[in-house]
Amino acid sequence: MEEKKFKTKYSVRDCIWKQFEYVSAISTKAFKIGHGKYEKYFMPPSRTIISQNLFRQYSCLDYNCTRCCSYVGFVNILNEDEVANLYTFSDKEALLYVEEDIIINEKPSKIFIYDHNNSVCGHVNSEENYCNIYGYEPIHCVFPLMKLKRVRDTVYITREPYGRNWLMKCPVVFKPMTEMGFQYTTSSIRRLMDFAREYGIPTKGEKILTLIYDRYQEMKQMLNESDFEEVEGGAHFKLDTKEFGGIDVD
Ligand code: SF4
Ligand code: SF4
Repeated sequence: MEEKKFKTKYSVRDCIWKQFEYVSAISTKAFKIGHGKYEKYFMPPSRTIISQNLFRQYSCLDYNCTRCCSYVGFVNILNEDEVANLYTFSDKEALLYVEEDIIINEKPSKIFIYDHNNSVCGHVNSEENYCNIYGYEPIHCVFPLMKLKRVRDTVYITREPYGRNWLMKCPVVFKPMTEMGFQYTTSSIRRLMDFAREYGIPTKGEKILTLIYDRYQEMKQMLNESDFEEVEGGAHFKLDTKEFGGIDVD
């Protein structure tokens, strides 16, 4: 696949920091990551809000779109369990990853990286335009429009069509939440919890999952499709937001 005009690039270290920013968004304790001669502290949020906007759905597969995989150069990061799972799925795809040393809270550790800064991601199926490793993709691919948005020391767990996706003209229009969208949402949080667990970083993931589950059940009982409206860039609940506002996790 040819190189795209708007391609952006990120260093290995930037991508490691980004990866652990995702983890810190649901962590309950501060931790320190070292890479080469650099170190960075990650603080847990003092407050976490599950936004009502999380409860809307999309899938890149619906649009046959791989722009995030082609326009954005990035370093894919997997932990040991994830790379082992990928091996069971496909040797060819897993062989793209190489070991990289990091230090977590003074303890030597490792991650597995695949740098596709200078090419379209090698997991793209260029004939049919989808991810060959769907379900095994790195955390950053799981969260393109699902966000763990930190504002000062509060994290909002939400879905938004912002950031790099404007530049790429992301075609997604959010739809009312479906069962499949709900499963994808909870499995994404679980992926993040599993990633953190491998490195001994405690999270509030279980609590977040319980609250998301309870809210979804509540919504299913009260809403039907006519309770949503489609607007450019997203679908919003027509109901008074006070009725289904954000959920305070803490
Ligand atoms: S791993 Fe899959 S989703 Fe992630 S950049 Fe590569 S092709 Fe895209
Ligand atoms: S541009 Fe939008 S639809 Fe396309 S891969 Fe990225 S998030 Fe998915």
